[in-house]
Amino acid sequence: MSARLIDGKAAAAEMNQMSLERAQHLREKGIEPHLAVILVGDNPASQTYVRSKEKACERANIRSTAIRMPAETTQAELVDKVRELNADKSVHGILVQLPLPDHLSADEVIDAIDPDKDVDGFHPVNMGRLSIGLPSMVPCTPAGIMVLLKKYGIDPAGRHAVIVGRSRIVGRPMAMLLINAHATVTVCNTRTPNLEDFTRSADILIVATGHRDTVNGSMIKPGATVIDVGINRVDGRLYGDVSEDAFETAGAMTPVPGGVGPMTVAMLLSNTLDIAERKG
Ligand code: NDP
Repeated sequence: MSARLIDGKAAAAEMNQMSLERAQHLREKGIEPHLAVILVGDNPASQTYVRSKEKACERANIRSTAIRMPAETTQAELVDKVRELNADKSVHGILVQLPLPDHLSADEVIDAIDPDKDVDGFHPVNMGRLSIGLPSMVPCTPAGIMVLLKKYGIDPAGRHAVIVGRSRIVGRPMAMLLINAHATVTVCNTRTPNLEDFTRSADILIVATGHRDTVNGSMIKPGATVIDVGINRVDGRLYGDVSEDAFETAGAMTPVPGGVGPMTVAMLLSNTLDIAERKG
């Protein structure tokens, strides 16, 4: 392996320690930071994610309330629950665990969240503010990637950043953050012809497709920074979206697991504390 390892696990541990201290400060002022998480249905992966968020909150001394609703919950019931949490002054952050069961509209539920309590940063108001470079809640995964780039001294300014994937939770907000950081940004999707022509020109390559081996070592510019967002579980093992041979070509790269994943949870805690510090 020649690439420098971008250690998300270590960076997240540092952030979580800071979060613990921030939560302590708030509690000394009589403010209990509080994250509410809504989980609808019994998707096993979502249940695991929610449990790991609860544990992370507990470690950081942040109160968490998980609201588990049955799979047959109606759109109106879910929106009512969100509105109830909007009105609850003890709640700082609200998160609706995605994906939702097929009969529910994620867009409509996200729209119902008070933008000031939108810890995930998915509300159109926050997305809009981010896209024009105004302060906003920033989606946790791309926010965590920006922290990693900074920590490893990788300045996007003047660099060509290529993002493979254009989702609401990763690709699009990532593009906005990199534009705001003065990178030249290209965003690829499934209709991009000859993907390797784009990936090979990237100084910073971010891959978030949900497909193992979307990018391999031959598709990377030697010395590039590679951020692998993917989490693919195969036979009980986790793989990213980038093949392991990319470590031979890249200059710096995140591993899977232990790269972007731990930073996502760390940013969720940090976003919750940002709101609690602002609102009290
Ligand atoms: P989505 O399925 O919502 O989006 C995937 C995107 O990748 C789409 O825009 C799709 O294009 C594009 N894409 C898929 N295959 C290709 C391809 N071969 N070439 C070019 N583009 C392609 O996924 P998410 O963004 O939600 O997640 C992506 C991955 O990141 C998943 O593995 C997910 O588990 C992981 N993830 C990890 C997190 C973490 O904390 N580490 C957090 C969030 C996600 P099109 O729009 O044309 O369909």
